[in-house]
Amino acid sequence: MEKIKMTTPLVEMDGDEMTRILWKWIKEKLILPFVDLKTEYYDLGLLHRNETQDQVTVDAANATKRLGVAVKCATITPNKQRMEEYPQLTEMWKSPNGTIRAILDGTAFRAPIVLPCIHPVVKNWEAPITIARHAYGDMYKAVDMTTEEPGICTMTFKGESGAEKTLTVQKVDGPAVWQGQHNKEASIRAFAKSCFQYAINQKQDLWFSTKDTIAKIYDGEFKRIFEEEYEQTYKAEFEKLGLTYFYTLIDDAVARCIRSKGGFIWALKNYDGDVMSDMVATAFGSLAMMTSVLVSPDGTMEFEASHGTVTRHYYKYLQGEKTSTNPIATIFAWSGALKRRGELDGLKDLAAFGQALEDASLETLLGGIMTRDLIGLVDEGFQTTAVNSEEFLDAIAGRLAKKLA
Ligand code: NAP
Ligand code: MG
Repeated sequence: MEKIKMTTPLVEMDGDEMTRILWKWIKEKLILPFVDLKTEYYDLGLLHRNETQDQVTVDAANATKRLGVAVKCATITPNKQRMEEYPQLTEMWKSPNGTIRAILDGTAFRAPIVLPCIHPVVKNWEAPITIARHAYGDMYKAVDMTTEEPGICTMTFKGESGAEKTLTVQKVDGPAVWQGQHNKEASIRAFAKSCFQYAINQKQDLWFSTKDTIAKIYDGEFKRIFEEEYEQTYKAEFEKLGLTYFYTLIDDAVARCIRSKGGFIWALKNYDGDVMSDMVATAFGSLAMMTSVLVSPDGTMEFEASHGTVTRHYYKYLQGEKTSTNPIATIFAWSGALKRRGELDGLKDLAAFGQALEDASLETLLGGIMTRDLIGLVDEGFQTTAVNSEEFLDAIAGRLAKKLA
């Protein structure tokens, strides 16, 4: 069989622990036998980030900007415990995802991969709900303080021009607690653009909700910028595709979401997105079945699994045990990136390969062959065979080869 050709490379970011092992197997078993793979490889494994003083992360993000598509393996974000585990670390390096997100000015979209034999806890959800979380500002870049006596708190903005604006926050008659929040026009606009762009790409409706009845000015800005971007830039394309942009109060959105059939993208402010993405992930079943795509306002995309490096399984693997780690989210990161590369470069075969890879993976699961994490989630009476990661990947490879023959 002749291998499928690529023209432009995609950015490949390797990672850590068990997902780094899965990464190698996925390439060996599911991609390299079929595709004449072209990647620009960046090793974001913790030790290589340390050797390059984290320059490799910056280089990988810049390469993604240049090439438009990336696929990323899960990586360790060092904490105190990791500093002890890896004594050679010269610094507690920042989260690579945070660094990449800042350079790409992107929004992360998290979506579950759904199977007809695994029913979400919310029984009327038929199709995945994708959460788009604004990843800048509000509570996450706030300043806080407590005060001990009666008094008054004011908030002052000093412009570079010398102009000032002052507001009374509150006069209090005893001890109190305070918080100052902000967001940036440009960041909210980039968030809006990424959401509309992604909705068009996925051909799904876009919902957006805030609490603008209470935070009339703060949340009102979010609502206004979304509306402005929609009217000016995206409305025509939405109407052509028959898509809806729907704004509603967050309370109403929560109620409608629970009663919905799913199948839409829900854009949320930073805190709301943090909370709702955990709710949606839990209701759909498993962290191992969640994908994540970082989308820039210009349409640059970076694909990855939502889960981490699965440390517990890695230590078993190092002891020679065959683990049953679920590779689905990482496979879908690869298939998503290959489909996007194919779409951007006009390579129908490459895009079709990405789709075939997803189909072969889902059919394997529907045939009852799955990793252990899914066994407990399937419907009663559904026949399953628990396999280890390599057996699972071999089963997918067999189906994929038949599809492509
Ligand atoms: P994790 O790697 O997501 O794993 C937590 C637990 O979830 C696992 O122990 C496992 O449960 C289950 N799980 C997750 N993915 C699975 C899969 N594919 N197949 C089967 N089970 C799966 O989270 P963590 O242990 O909190 O974090 C480990 C490292 O990952 C940390 O160093 C963190 O910094 C990093 N991290 C990276 C990213 C990223 O790069 N995007 C995201 C999150 C975390 P059982 O042990 O019960 O089997
Ligand atoms: Mg959360």
